[in-house]
Amino acid sequence: MKVATFTRNREWGIGVVDIETQSIHPFKVTAEAAERGVPVLMEMDHLPEQGAAIPLSSVRLQAPVPRPARNIFCVGKNYFEHAHEFSRSGFDSSAAAGNVPKHPIIFSKLPDAVIATNDFIRIDPTVSECIDYEAELAVIIGKGGKKIAAEHAFEHVWGYTIVNDVTARDLQKKYSQWLIGKSQDTFCPMGPWAVTQDEIDISDTIIQCSVNGEPRQEANTNMLIFDIPTLIATLSSGITLQPGDIIATGTPAGVGIGFNPPKYLRDGDVVSIHIQNIGTLENRCIRGAS
Ligand code: MG
Repeated sequence: MKVATFTRNREWGIGVVDIETQSIHPFKVTAEAAERGVPVLMEMDHLPEQGAAIPLSSVRLQAPVPRPARNIFCVGKNYFEHAHEFSRSGFDSSAAAGNVPKHPIIFSKLPDAVIATNDFIRIDPTVSECIDYEAELAVIIGKGGKKIAAEHAFEHVWGYTIVNDVTARDLQKKYSQWLIGKSQDTFCPMGPWAVTQDEIDISDTIIQCSVNGEPRQEANTNMLIFDIPTLIATLSSGITLQPGDIIATGTPAGVGIGFNPPKYLRDGDVVSIHIQNIGTLENRCIRGAS
């Protein structure tokens, strides 16, 4: 099941996407409930009734979790080739400690940075002009818990979506901790919708990213250094995970900083991220302070 959060005539809705007919079957819930996105469905014993289908083209898609209740958990350097390209770039001092991490590198992004597919990624030249894309598979937690064993991890997963972990590389370096470089307004495109875990073989899923149609990143989730069960076990060992928490699992090789010279995002660039069995998250960059 693909679940989209959307607005139509400025009214919030949430419903099931039918790709074949390019339509949405909206759940009969209040606009207030719909605005919370997929977490509202996790609290229900059974899915609400659905109304008549509406054309996908008649809605504006919103992020599947438009405003997460807390920071988005993110994983740094979780693909070998990306860890190597990052180290080679010499841009981040933490890379000096070695190419491939022994333990997951965990940081977070502010919930306020979340935007939807087709929204603009803002490049504010007074803040940074070294803005980079990072295509990532994101896990949506459905059932909270603490000390979740790796073998039970998938019982806590509701489903998946796509996140572009947009990063200002200069700020990431300058401030040592990554939060500022990763959490600028508009730096967390998410969507186009969420997909329940039964629809994907998550151990064998292709991730692709292009900029203006030029292929930049391609990998398979079977290349993750720390897999999803390991990430959930690591995070939940001392932090209680909550329904609606999001974990962005890390980006493959091919980010802008990996090129010489770096290929940072410019005004008008379109970043398109496709994940097999989920869909495509697409955002255009726009220059100027908001
Ligand atoms: Mg990342």
